[in-house]
Amino acid sequence: MKSHNISGAQIRQDFIDFFIQQGHTFVPSSSLVPGGDQTLLFTNAGMVQFKDVFLGTDKRSYTRAANSQKCMRVAGKHNDLEDVGRDNTHHTFFEMLGNWSFGDYYKKESISWAWKLLTEVWGLPKDKLWTTCFRDDLGDIPQDTEAWEYWLTQPGIKPEQILFFGRKDNFWEMAETGPCGPCSEIHIDRGAEFCDKHNMPGHICAVNTDCTRYLELWNLVFIQYNRLSPSQLEPLPAKHVDTGMGLERIVSVLQGVDSNYRTDLLFPMIASVQSLTGQSSEEREGDLTPYRVIADHSRAAAFLIADGVVPGNTGRNYICRMIIRRASRFGSKIGLTEPFLAKIAETVINEYSEFYAELSKNKKTILEAITREEERFHHTLESGLAKLDSQLEKLKHGESHILAGESAFDLYATFGLPFEITRDIAKEEGLDVDEQGFYKSMEEHRIASGAGETFGVMGGDDVDIYRLLFEDLCKAGKITSLGVEHDPYHCLESRGEILALVKDGAKVQQAAPGDKVEVLIPNTCFYIESGGQVSDSGLIQSMNGNPWTIQVEDIRKPAAGIIVQRGKVLQGNPKVGDQALASVDAERRQDIMRNHTATHLLHRQLHVILGEHARQAGSLVAPDHLRFDFTHPEALTQEQIEAIEAGVNQDILGNFSLEIDFKPLQKAIDEGATALFGEKYGDTVRNIKIGKPEIFSNELCGGTHVEATGDIGLFIIISESSAAAGIRRIEAVTGRNAYKLAHKRMQTLQITAGLLSTSTDHVVQKTQQLIIELASARKQLNSLRQKLAGLDFDQMLTNTSHIHGVNLLTANFVNTDVETLRQLVDRFRERFSENGIVVLASTIEDRPVIIVGLTNDLVKRGLHAGELAKHVAGFLGGSGGGKPTLAQAGGKDAANIDQALSSVSAWINHHILE
Ligand SMILES: [Zn+2]
Ligand SMILES: [Zn+2]
Repeated sequence: MKSHNISGAQIRQDFIDFFIQQGHTFVPSSSLVPGGDQTLLFTNAGMVQFKDVFLGTDKRSYTRAANSQKCMRVAGKHNDLEDVGRDNTHHTFFEMLGNWSFGDYYKKESISWAWKLLTEVWGLPKDKLWTTCFRDDLGDIPQDTEAWEYWLTQPGIKPEQILFFGRKDNFWEMAETGPCGPCSEIHIDRGAEFCDKHNMPGHICAVNTDCTRYLELWNLVFIQYNRLSPSQLEPLPAKHVDTGMGLERIVSVLQGVDSNYRTDLLFPMIASVQSLTGQSSEEREGDLTPYRVIADHSRAAAFLIADGVVPGNTGRNYICRMIIRRASRFGSKIGLTEPFLAKIAETVINEYSEFYAELSKNKKTILEAITREEERFHHTLESGLAKLDSQLEKLKHGESHILAGESAFDLYATFGLPFEITRDIAKEEGLDVDEQGFYKSMEEHRIASGAGETFGVMGGDDVDIYRLLFEDLCKAGKITSLGVEHDPYHCLESRGEILALVKDGAKVQQAAPGDKVEVLIPNTCFYIESGGQVSDSGLIQSMNGNPWTIQVEDIRKPAAGIIVQRGKVLQGNPKVGDQALASVDAERRQDIMRNHTATHLLHRQLHVILGEHARQAGSLVAPDHLRFDFTHPEALTQEQIEAIEAGVNQDILGNFSLEIDFKPLQKAIDEGATALFGEKYGDTVRNIKIGKPEIFSNELCGGTHVEATGDIGLFIIISESSAAAGIRRIEAVTGRNAYKLAHKRMQTLQITAGLLSTSTDHVVQKTQQLIIELASARKQLNSLRQKLAGLDFDQMLTNTSHIHGVNLLTANFVNTDVETLRQLVDRFRERFSENGIVVLASTIEDRPVIIVGLTNDLVKRGLHAGELAKHVAGFLGGSGGGKPTLAQAGGKDAANIDQALSSVSAWINHHILE
């Protein structure tokens, strides 16, 4: 080997320079957050940014590319977070070196370049390298002999160093269908001392046996097929090359170390941790897992935050939060109890910024976000760990040694302890956690809270801010321990002091025009989206000298006890401490209430008209319309829809007052209230009854309603459709929107009546009459056209052309039906009993039709009307055929009729001469 002194950065640069010399374009790494791909959490391979090129939906200005791609893997078949830190090779974040050919060079070049770079540029010993080629274990796909032959010609390689493997190791597929192909891998034999299985009886070191003596260095993928189905491959017109070599691994080999963490890519972070703990190197070796976890996770966190991922509660943000918290927890195991990760991240930034400038550019953001997240975590860590400890203690003495998923979820929801940390700790005690149960609880929690986003009740990523804020406000006596007072039922306005303003996830004292803020006031009347009813909107305005206005667009509960209105500052500078008036948009709210009460009336009419099986399966109550999904096996008939609409309007005209009260859940159900599927109810429920003296609608509902059904005004169904298998959907409007719709329809009717010169009452009759008149006029027109065609035809019969003694007539009649064309063909045959060919065309409803006739004697001479029809159909983009004397052709391209007709003489020429 050349040298152990070569740096990781130099190795990355060598790779790129080598391929630039071979005509490649250097393409910078794409972001860890994949652009335009919702299915992928993180960029996890070099392929991600080139996917569209391979799928053929995108083109680049280059056909050869080389890169070092930032990748992130936290779960999947090749990586489990649990492994990261516990061994020498697994990482969350890593770099993937790759060279790419998009329909340019292929196996010959990629194999010889790979060999040259490894053995000549980097000086790896030729006799220690092993290569593999594809041979199908199922025998369906051809063996990759081509690659094998190229490997044979590499200088210094012996035939026995080239091995064959099957689909698992040596065939690459992007998905179940799409581009795929064989791969060739290069492995290195590091020597018997590197084997981690030498104590296992019967173990023999070999390539692809999961033994650490042989390391896979580089995978060359040759994309040459397109998979159409499990059994069908077609060759690609343009073949591609996609190679991947893990940077950390090749660096460990070239630097001659037995662990990725001892390369100069990761060791600086280990050293930084050691400088904080003050441990000796011996002590460090005894505690290697925490060191490795911290080195790996702080590197990943720095890169994630540089790419815009911040610690949070969902998706990518959750991963960012989780790795910071996991690193922090491992830090506490080696005595690091104060926030320290920013110091390690600083080392990452120093080590990597030369190649990844986004790190130094975002240095401040990275360091602050990491420290803030550690602080948040420490705030709840102790109580969370205490709770977990007591649970684990109980488990140890119990039957099951698996912590329930629900408890793990509770630890996260209440104490911010990520699942992965709970599992780490449980495993250290020889216990485990029910992972599926955790995700199930998470899902249930989402449904129970009625919010579309994960952790609805807990709020978004800022739950900690609000939790602290709540504690502070309680201590200061600004709000009671019951939290913000909330009454959306009895008022539309509330007054109070602004207790907090939050902008971009941070508390501010004051906001400016255009700012998007969350406003905390001690009491509010704004309805919070739930049970299908959307949130209120409205205004918050200043009540003292300093005038300002905030337009409220939404309202939410970010943490227990806290309700905030979200909106935009329209004018002025709202400040914490200002007296404020918060008013709900009353007209919009009235529209919503009409739609909500109408929803209950609709639900009851569905039971009356369709039956009790028609139960609610989903609901939206918005200001402009309502949408109601219900279980019913088939489309509604027009009569059913009309009966439902009429029934609801009947109940509206009845002007029944609503009786709304709170009572224990069991009592309400005993009284016949309908509890809705998928809703979670507390012990006390809100009960909405309609109908006096005879109650006909009785539902449990937290929504806002009109006082009496007459307030709804009018109800019109605007659509009935399928929402899912076995579920129908009705959409309807009420009140102002129903009036608007009715008015518009009346107007249309009046305009139509005016155009028809009749009264609105007679529009239908008049229209029917016009339709009959039009049909008869069309019929007359057709018969006149036929007559005209006949006259034209007689003229044409005197003017046929002659080809080898055959009388040929071709003609195009616009808008003539097939029957007429056939009659004309007969007329032709009356005129020419022998030696005659007639080809007549027409266009009927934009589609071309051609009728071919020929005389019996020509059939004896070998001509066939069906073949001629087929011939002309070729011009029309269609097909043709028929009997020897009479045939028909049709197609799509009416524009080509003339071309088809003029081709007939050449066809005759050709066939008569034969
Ligand atoms: Zn071995
Ligand atoms: Zn309701």
